[in-house]
Amino acid sequence: MKLFGVIGNPISHSLSPIMHEAAFKALGKSCAYLPMLVEPNQLDAALKGAAALGFTGLNVTIPFKEQVIPYLTELTDGARAIGSVNTILFKDNQIIGHSTDGLGFQWAAKEELGLEFSNRRVLVIGAGGAARAIISQLLKLNCIVYVANRTFAKIERVIRDIAQNRANQIVPLELSTNKLAQVMHQISVVINTTSVGMQETKGQTPISADLLHSNQAVIDIIYNPKESLLLRLAKEKGCPTQNGVGMLVWQAAKSWEFWLGITPPIDVMYAAVKASLP
Ligand code: NAP
Repeated sequence: MKLFGVIGNPISHSLSPIMHEAAFKALGKSCAYLPMLVEPNQLDAALKGAAALGFTGLNVTIPFKEQVIPYLTELTDGARAIGSVNTILFKDNQIIGHSTDGLGFQWAAKEELGLEFSNRRVLVIGAGGAARAIISQLLKLNCIVYVANRTFAKIERVIRDIAQNRANQIVPLELSTNKLAQVMHQISVVINTTSVGMQETKGQTPISADLLHSNQAVIDIIYNPKESLLLRLAKEKGCPTQNGVGMLVWQAAKSWEFWLGITPPIDVMYAAVKASLP
């Protein structure tokens, strides 16, 4: 049997075990996927333990995506570029860190909205961990990425850390209606990567929905609730919309490719996630 799991703290809310187990079962694979709560001071021990126990791979979630890096023996170029790891492969005594968040985002948008990002002007709201993965992917696709964040200084950090020779493709913006209104007509895709709209901020939007144009695709990477207020208002305006379930499923699918060299049954993963959400 091949062993997999997800490490994080907290971990009980993670939908990854349900999603991966459903896909393994559908293919009749002899694999198990476990949620594993790790204390921050036990991260090194947890990785060495998983290696010693013969685990094939792990996913990594909050708060360990960056913290895990010093304990790895190798990083893929993608993970190094964003300084974040969500997938680990144990192979030939190596512990290899990879990130599938950016690719997962790209594939979900392609599959659900038919979006090809190449050369587009895209607004990313937020400059946290998820934003870094998405911005890095969009830069590779030659997008001009407008980044608006509550804490402006964080955008400068993102540029310093991940833009490499593509800093001229990033336009930093204050998260204010006035500033956004000046550029909105140029934007073809709006992406919310902030946590504004999640359960505790359910009645809020990260930007005023009045700014949206009906020809803009609006993606919110929040998946709980399934439809954030931003998405509901965007849909009412006639914008094509997408929630965060697709990114969650596709980053998992890209983990399978890294671990096993195969693509899982995507429809099974979607169904497992949707059935688990309120
Ligand atoms: P993070 O690193 O903590 O970043 C949070 C971001 O939200 C920051 O830009 C922060 O701005 C902003 N923010 C938080 N509260 C705000 C407020 N009241 N007003 C304005 N901005 C606010 O978190 P993360 O890991 O990137 O995750 C962000 C969201 O993405 C979460 O909802 C998470 O569930 C979701 N996510 C989804 C997937 C998926 O697969 N669908 C994957 C990863 C994450 P400041 O810099 O000003 O603090």
